[in-house]
Amino acid sequence: MTGRVDVVSIFPDYLAPLELSLVGKARTRGLVDIAVHDLRDWTTDRHRTVDDTPFGGGAGMVMRPDVWGEALDTVLAPEAGERVLLVPTPAGQPFTQRTAEELAGVLEAGGQLVVACGRYEGIDARVAEHYATREGVQVREVSIGDYVLNGGEVAALVVIEAVVRLLPGVLGNAASVVEESHGSDGLLEHPAYTQPPSWRGLEVPDVLRSGDHGRVARWRRARAVERTARVRPDLLAAHPAAVRAARPADAEVLAEVAGATFALACPPDMPAADIEEFVATHLSVERFRAYLKDRRRWLLLAEVAGAVVGYTMCVAGEPEDPDVAAAVPDRPTAELSKCYVLPEHHRSGVAAALMTATLDAARERGLPGIWLGVNGRNERAKRFYAKHGFARVGDRTFAVGGRRECDDVMYRTL
Ligand code: SAM
Repeated sequence: MTGRVDVVSIFPDYLAPLELSLVGKARTRGLVDIAVHDLRDWTTDRHRTVDDTPFGGGAGMVMRPDVWGEALDTVLAPEAGERVLLVPTPAGQPFTQRTAEELAGVLEAGGQLVVACGRYEGIDARVAEHYATREGVQVREVSIGDYVLNGGEVAALVVIEAVVRLLPGVLGNAASVVEESHGSDGLLEHPAYTQPPSWRGLEVPDVLRSGDHGRVARWRRARAVERTARVRPDLLAAHPAAVRAARPADAEVLAEVAGATFALACPPDMPAADIEEFVATHLSVERFRAYLKDRRRWLLLAEVAGAVVGYTMCVAGEPEDPDVAAAVPDRPTAELSKCYVLPEHHRSGVAAALMTATLDAARERGLPGIWLGVNGRNERAKRFYAKHGFARVGDRTFAVGGRRECDDVMYRTL
């Protein structure tokens, strides 16, 4: 069944783009009927007046309900099944991909979408109120964003394009709408690349040319989650962090996250070469494979929307450093050796969830307490550990690249 869209406006020419591109093609292929109407055709006076001054005073003009009433009584098609009267207004509900999907469902079922384009200060409020009481008519006042346009025509184009592209047969590849931003998982899409592989000194990421579908899928997921966290953290509210024990198959992703986070906790003046060397030596895929096999260690990872965004690693056993051994009060003990979260997920609750699960796992092992070393100048990390019950019990010094560094040793009773 073909659905129909009717647009009513005082500037019908503004809607000419509906003849173009995919929407235009959808019309000629009979996938949707679209008609544009001039509101002034329903005026009765010589000047074809559609507006008047607002009751109560104030700036601007308001569109008259009697003219709109005549227009909508004609355009709302009683023979269509479900009818939606869509009134664009900056004071409406946000128009989202979910709204587009619902409206596409109406058209797919042979229903009708009527878009009433306001101008001036908008349409007399009684119009929406009146049609909301009409049987079979659903009124939706929607805003396409938090800004004010001069009229509803641009909003109508936005809504119609977003809706029509979801109708079956409109897009060449139906998978396109599944993999996009604002899809069912509510994430932004990963970045996309095409030929040439090298352009103005910028390279396509190697993984995309590896032919390894599993790695490509994981990389894309990670980039989608990272971009969403950075640009639209509000969208991640529906994806709380899930913490689980790391498995042997996680070595690669752990090495990636470790490589991306290690520098965050280093002293600000630590040379990049020292950081790189540490990452290559201690945080490689091979090292993580070995850590995951080591029975003295346990590794937990935090996932957001299916992407790994942080991890902890604990090592049970007697502290090697005599200063630490003297400072840690109880035995047996374990070190919380790594606790890292990707920067875009800081202050989102991920680190707290990881820490809670890590302490629970230490308790399950029957440990009376757990210790950690944190760079003395890393105030942010020290505050985080203090919030989770760690207190300073001593310090340890060690050499990095020929310089002496000092860690606070912190302990938490379990
Ligand atoms: N007085 C209205 C207010 O402050 O809410 C603004 C009216 S606006 C100047 C004129 C028309 O532009 C509206 O009736 C509506 O059709 C359209 N419009 C403006 N901004 C819009 C937005 N963000 N979303 C949808 N429609 C919008």
